[in-house]
Amino acid sequence: MKTEVIVIDRKALRPQDGEAGYPELDRQLAGAARILRDGGLVAFPTETVYGLGADGLNAGAAEKIYAAKGRPSDNPLILHISSREEIFPLVEEVPETAGILMEKFWPGPLTMIFRKSGIVPYQATGGLDTVAVRMPDDIVANRLIALAGVPVAAPSANLSGRPSPTTAAHVLQDMDGRIEMILDGGPVGIGVESTIVDVTGRIPVLLRPGAITLEMLSEAVGQVDIDPAILGPLTADVRPKAPGMKYRHYAPKAELVLVEERGGAASGRAGSGQAPVGNAVISRIRELAGEKIKEGHVVGIICTDETRDCYPEGIVRSVGRRGDEETIARSLFAVLRQFDDIGAEYIYSESFARDNLGRAIMNRLTKAAGYHIIYCGDQERRP
Ligand code: AMP
Ligand code: MG
Repeated sequence: MKTEVIVIDRKALRPQDGEAGYPELDRQLAGAARILRDGGLVAFPTETVYGLGADGLNAGAAEKIYAAKGRPSDNPLILHISSREEIFPLVEEVPETAGILMEKFWPGPLTMIFRKSGIVPYQATGGLDTVAVRMPDDIVANRLIALAGVPVAAPSANLSGRPSPTTAAHVLQDMDGRIEMILDGGPVGIGVESTIVDVTGRIPVLLRPGAITLEMLSEAVGQVDIDPAILGPLTADVRPKAPGMKYRHYAPKAELVLVEERGGAASGRAGSGQAPVGNAVISRIRELAGEKIKEGHVVGIICTDETRDCYPEGIVRSVGRRGDEETIARSLFAVLRQFDDIGAEYIYSESFARDNLGRAIMNRLTKAAGYHIIYCGDQERRP
């Protein structure tokens, strides 16, 4: 299959004076919408990561997503809609808390789990009686879904097990020849996948942390529980609520190890933002990297702008500014992919605070590391 790449010029997309809607964008998206209606696959930008879209009400089309990604068939998809009303045919009911969250955070990076209606095929839900629904904020995603006229089932547009794509080039790397079209809308804004909340029970449960943080959710609806799978690995025999949690996700090819200061920078204080990283972490990473470099291995180090100069050896990549977590979320997956391209064999990474957006960052990092974390004890801090 030949994969067509269409570059969307975002600057040309603003509605002109006196014009209703986005006629120029709609013209650019007409072919992509037709592919979706005809049961084909189109990768498209959203504000979180690039999605791999198919008609979510067409069982055969949804199955193609699993084949293209090499994704296990019990790992469900998220249905993407373009306006709030489109949720009603897809779900049995919209619980009150869900209504509040929809009002506050849609369109945006929040996915909610509902009991599914009869029209949603099990091929889109990994066989579950629940369905995940999100209304993306990105205008390209929004218009594409509206023009397709169907809910668009879309997981991240990467091969299963690889880091999620945050640029169209990442999508092409994984999907060239496997899907009909890629819409290149430039780099995404957020960089980690949507927050997932199960709203089917009395108390909402956070299944995957993202840019809509636990703190923001609690402020809106009170108590929100955290699924245990967010905190650590699951055993093979449980059927997890968010099946993505079961698989080693977001994984680079290298062996990735996180280095964390116990009771230090990475545990953070609620609302305090990112504390500076400790000297103990830096010297431990230097020591671990040094050993592998001496053995002749290709070694990567993940740090931040604040500590970039602390590592004299190895291939050093900053993921952003510790003082601005959004920069870290935005480039984390791209940095993991760069290390794949370079052929890194070992990667040592600094850790981050586990509250606010840091919860999402650390969730992706610890999963990419297969939960391999080395703790060190020094309480000393660097500015
Ligand atoms: P992705 O963002 O590509 O990892 O794909 C969507 C993710 O949404 C899956 O891996 C699941 O974690 C989650 N998900 C989708 N549908 C459901 C559902 N019905 N129940 C729980 N989690 C879901
Ligand atoms: Mg994914």
